[in-house]
Amino acid sequence: MGAKEVGTYRGHSAEADSRAGAKPYAEYMSVDFSQQPFTVAWEITRACALRCVHCRAEAIPRRNPLELTTEEGFRFIDDLKAIGGPILVVTGGDPMMRRDVYDFISYAANDKGMRVALSPSATALLTKKSLGKAKACGLLRTHISLDGSNAAIHDGFRQMPGVFQRTMEVLETLSDLDMTIQIGTTVSRYNLNDLQAIMDVISKYNVVMWNLFFLVPTGRGATEDMISPEEHERVFNWMYDVSKMAPFDVRSTAAMHYRRMVMQRRRAEMAGALEHAAERAGESMPPGKGYLTGAGYSFQDGMGQSAMKGVNDGNGFAFVDHLGNVCPSGFLQTPAGNLRKQSFIEIYRDSPLFRLLRDYSQLKGKCGACDFRDVCGGSRARAFAVTGDYMESEPYCVYTSPEARARGLGAPPAPPRERPDSYYAQPVTRG
Ligand code: SF4
Repeated sequence: MGAKEVGTYRGHSAEADSRAGAKPYAEYMSVDFSQQPFTVAWEITRACALRCVHCRAEAIPRRNPLELTTEEGFRFIDDLKAIGGPILVVTGGDPMMRRDVYDFISYAANDKGMRVALSPSATALLTKKSLGKAKACGLLRTHISLDGSNAAIHDGFRQMPGVFQRTMEVLETLSDLDMTIQIGTTVSRYNLNDLQAIMDVISKYNVVMWNLFFLVPTGRGATEDMISPEEHERVFNWMYDVSKMAPFDVRSTAAMHYRRMVMQRRRAEMAGALEHAAERAGESMPPGKGYLTGAGYSFQDGMGQSAMKGVNDGNGFAFVDHLGNVCPSGFLQTPAGNLRKQSFIEIYRDSPLFRLLRDYSQLKGKCGACDFRDVCGGSRARAFAVTGDYMESEPYCVYTSPEARARGLGAPPAPPRERPDSYYAQPVTRG
């Protein structure tokens, strides 16, 4: 069965992973992404008992004997500390498939003082004992994937019966242990109309953040299952609305253009408020005045960090696979170097690939001429997955800047969808 896991936290696009721990805003802003990442995800193993349908890792049942050893892992953590101590996300496959997962958490958290998050699979390995042990080792946050509000959708999406039930049990256990939970939901055609119901389910638990991940068609992820550019925009607007009232943070992953939409909405709201205030004062206001706030615009709700400085693949973020390959993200697994040959610091700072990805003047098409370029930049992973060129324009963004329009610049079209919507309503047996 070709099962996949769509867009879980272990997918590790740059953006939401940067939020695995809560770095203060000033600290975030002080990080020079050309010198140090804000977040690093480390796939300590690719082994996993699940075979989810959209797994970006194309997880395998057994551990690869060539995985980084415990000692190599410790040296890597030393490097991370030396480069500035980014948030470390321990992921897989299923990181619980390695017994030394606790040693890595403890070494990074207790010995090196780093913030550590864990992204396990919802399997029998996640017991009260194992989670309690991870907490005792200094784990800050646990990421759990939930892609549907019920077994039919979640298990159908993951092509694995019983995972929804197990996930609910894990959420109960984490809440009992008073451990903070981050939920990852991959937005796809499977659950496009189920998002509100998912939000209702997770509101019952000790959830501090809900990451909506927008599918990148890599690994087992299928272009066919992606929502359209217009549907992306519709979900972005919905997210923005619910983020104002949700009992937890609502964030996006692999959707850098969500930042653009937030800026547009905030500017519109600000303009409305200004016009309203002017009206009350009996003054007239030039049309559109409130829309004129520029790239330095800062939001009080914390989105300002994205507004002025957005994490992207290889830019504030890096992913290290189970063999030690250092990549821009889990969805852009083009190795820039390997830890067995070079230090992480050298690869992150000086590899041609990472340097190119950080140079937004090299972006092509409408992304290169976009007035939101520096805060968005489009998903480099999605551009690569769809076009084979990681500097190409984001194909799933509906926005075109006035300058791009004037210069006739666009983006590659999103691939056509051939499956009918009814395909996504089927129960678990496909595969
Ligand atoms: S055109 Fe590109 S840079 Fe501009 S908002 Fe869309 S994805 Fe972002």
